[in-house]
Amino acid sequence: MRVEKAKSLSVKALNPADDIGLINLLSIRQLGPDEVYCFSVVMCDNDVDRDLERFTDRTLEDLAPMFVGKTVISDHRWSSGGQIARIYATEVKTGTENNSAGVPLKQLICRAYMLNNETNKATIEAIEGGILKEVSVSCAVGQHNCSLCGEPMEINWSTFTYECKNHHQKGETYPGEGLCVVLLEDAKDAFELSFVAVPAQRNAGVTKSAENLDDAFDVLLSCTDLSDHPKFGELLQHMQKSTMKAAEREERQKILTENKKFIQKHERM
Ligand SMILES: [Zn+2]
Repeated sequence: MRVEKAKSLSVKALNPADDIGLINLLSIRQLGPDEVYCFSVVMCDNDVDRDLERFTDRTLEDLAPMFVGKTVISDHRWSSGGQIARIYATEVKTGTENNSAGVPLKQLICRAYMLNNETNKATIEAIEGGILKEVSVSCAVGQHNCSLCGEPMEINWSTFTYECKNHHQKGETYPGEGLCVVLLEDAKDAFELSFVAVPAQRNAGVTKSAENLDDAFDVLLSCTDLSDHPKFGELLQHMQKSTMKAAEREERQKILTENKKFIQKHERM
């Protein structure tokens, strides 16, 4: 199952001379320290994210080596897109504080390099100048498990919520057990890291025109199976809310019509 997670950008420039040996293990030709620009980025961590999911420490440890050699790509909104850098080292760092799940915060941090030339000048300036606001990590995990009992979480089709066989629901708090979140476990693959210029906030962002929305529905309806997509649960919940809103609208309309009838009748009397 493909997982994509966004995180606000925390980037630090590094001294290329310290890492040139590691970089040359990946580069096609031997590079000198003055030819490269190096930086470190916090890719993801073990904290509960806005989807009420979190990577376990084990998943972060397993993902770390999978990301070495993978590319850093750019968001199409701020450049022509494509590969901008390559990851040459990764590590899991333990912080001094606890995360919201009450365990020590761990971050997966990568070090990446790009050629320090005219072509990349704008990109380097964008990174250092804070134009890039978020990074998005893309990987695959084999299991979505319940944080309270460890059982697999699955979509409950009658309530459109993620639920384990012990009926723990994602986002619900259980007395004595705590908040149920989804644990992302069994790291399978690492794809890439991307830089995003505009934060992908929920409910904020671009207003879609009706024409585009029709296109979007056509694309969705042409898919034979959507259930593997990381936003599938979100889409289901959104549809459920929309259905409820439509029912409410109908109910309100009924009341208004009856009121009108009552008033008209009253006026005639
Ligand atoms: Zn459970």
